[in-house]
Amino acid sequence: MRSVGFRPDYARVTVGWPAAGHRWTTGPAPAGFTDRLAAVLDAQQVNAVLGLHECALCPTPLPDAHPWYTPRPGHLRASAGTGEIRVPGTPGTVFAAPHLIGHYVADHGYLPPRPFVEAVLAFDPYGPWPARFPGIRFPWIPDDATLRHVDEDRPVV
Ligand SMILES: [Zn+2]
Repeated sequence: MRSVGFRPDYARVTVGWPAAGHRWTTGPAPAGFTDRLAAVLDAQQVNAVLGLHECALCPTPLPDAHPWYTPRPGHLRASAGTGEIRVPGTPGTVFAAPHLIGHYVADHGYLPPRPFVEAVLAFDPYGPWPARFPGIRFPWIPDDATLRHVDEDRPVV
């Protein structure tokens, strides 16, 4: 299992889990949001082995013969995924979202909460702070913070 955390702990706000039968927001995303979100998704993935998550909004289950990591016909992003992303929010806060959020936005018109949209637009995944596991760091994390991760069942603290 691979996961990442920091001491001191930060507040993690989870977004991006729309579900069939529940209300979720749709609407036009601000200019550049979808592209920046795609860049974040391409740059990082944490908790990648916590199972395969299939979209519950797509009208039919993914056929067994369809590779889970490729988009369905007519879609921009795969409708199944594994893992999550982290996006720095205000100091002391980080957003956690499923990797599938790109599919929700691009193919279902999901519009995440405004603070998340603003955080994505403000985050440069290719900036001076590493955005990839295991060296993931965010601008507000102090230089003396301790990176914690678990890799292959061997905890490293
Ligand atoms: Zn879907």
